[in-house]
Parts: sequence; structure tokens; C-alpha cells
Amino acid sequence: MQSSATGEVCFVLKTYPYKERDVIAVLLSEKKGRFSALARNGIQSRRFGGSLDLFTCSEFALDPKTIRLSDIQEDILVQVLSAQVKRTPGLAGSFEKLSGASALNEIILRVIPPQRPAPEIFKLYSNALLAIEDLPADQTLKIVNAFILKITQWLGVQPSLTRCMVCEKTLNEIEGHSVCAQVAQGAWICDACRPDRSGLTLSKDTILDAYHSMLNPIRKIEFMATTREHEEMLEFLEKHLQYFVPGLDRAPIGALRFLKSPQWPT
Ligand SMILES: [Zn+2]
Repeated sequence: MQSSATGEVCFVLKTYPYKERDVIAVLLSEKKGRFSALARNGIQSRRFGGSLDLFTCSEFALDPKTIRLSDIQEDILVQVLSAQVKRTPGLAGSFEKLSGASALNEIILRVIPPQRPAPEIFKLYSNALLAIEDLPADQTLKIVNAFILKITQWLGVQPSLTRCMVCEKTLNEIEGHSVCAQVAQGAWICDACRPDRSGLTLSKDTILDAYHSMLNPIRKIEFMATTREHEEMLEFLEKHLQYFVPGLDRAPIGALRFLKSPQWPT
């Protein structure tokens, strides 16, 4: 998606009311990365239409002058002059898809620094959101796992998945069907090297999926592992983020809990 000269194409990550009638929107664009914008009269004004709805991709005309509001500390804001919907999300009616899309938004809000151009993150988010919309709902968790893995690559804190961290054998060379994830090392140990069987057990298929998730575009990944196995991967990835991304140890990413459901078929 390209921004035209007059506007900025953005996804809406979060909105909240400000004062009585205004709305502050946290947006993600190709050129500006994550940033916040003030939509005066955004609560009711018809000129914004559905352009400020979550997950919507809209073209925003922005006043480049920045605003500082005394009671909003964390962000510099720009002002939305007008906005036009380019694409509405196709998530309606699926709790899993809505939870997955919410997880994408929360992860961007928590781990991507504001006011920093991140075209690859814009593209990744856009592709992940489209994949969640297009694929069956039971694939959502797998897309979110792939998204998290790609985010860890972007942050430079990706887990090391190709070899056992002790004997350095590859997945093909080791015995058994599972390995043991080591959060603090961001790696795994094979059964033969781990006599005490401590740590988080992940199936070989899950490791393979994670490996492919880091190598391939999100729409091209062919997932092998079951949903249940991916729940275990999510468990590991949450711990991984908490361990390696500053600030995430203080509060978990709330939206992820809705993706873990004991009644899902395996
Ligand atoms: Zn080993």
C-alpha cells in the first residue's frame, strides 16, 4: 500500500476519547511508524466516518504541526484534518479472529517504539491482518505466533531454533518427537541432552513451523503442527518476549489469553 502525496495510509491500532468530543487515535503507517493523532470532534463528526474504527486502513490528511497536550505525556500528536476509509476489516463474527487482530495491535503498541519509520512492520502487520481475515479461524493462533516470531527478528531477539543448544544436532538428527525450550537461552535442548526433562516441551513440528515462520512471508507459511501444539508455542513466545523485550516483564500482553482456549480441537 502506498501513501499518496496528500495523505498518510494508516491502520488504526487504538482509539480513546479525549475531553468531551475529541478522539486520540494510535496509528501505524509505512512512513511514520506508530504515532498518535488527535481527531477534533472525532466522537460524533461525520467527516471521520468509520475511518477511526479499529483495524481499519484509512487515508488520513494530517496537519504536520505537532501538538503537545499537557495531560497526555507519552506522545507527540499530530492533528487529523480528514480521513477516508480505504479498507474495512473482515473480522466480524469470529471471536478467534478478533482476538488475533487485537493481539497484533497490542504487540505493536507494546514493543514497537513510537515515531520511528518501520516500513517492514507496516507490511508485516498488513499481511498478518489479511491472513487472519482470509484463513479459517482455527489458523489465527498460528498466524499470531508467526507474527511474534517475525517481530522478534525485527527486534533482534529471535530464538535460535535450528540446532540443539548443547549437542548442536539439527531437528532431523535428534531422537524423539519433541524438544525442550529454554526461555533464558532463547533456544532448545534435545531429549538426549536433557536428562532431567526440565523446561517447556515443544513438538518438532512446532519448532519446524516456527523456523519456517521466520524464513517465509506470512502468507506463504505451510503450518504442520496442531492448534494445541501452537498453544504451547505461544506459551513459549510469551515467556520469550517477557524475557528479552524490556518492559514486557511487568505486564503480560492481555489479548493473547483469548487465543488460548482449552476446548479448541487439536
Ligand atoms: Zn542435544
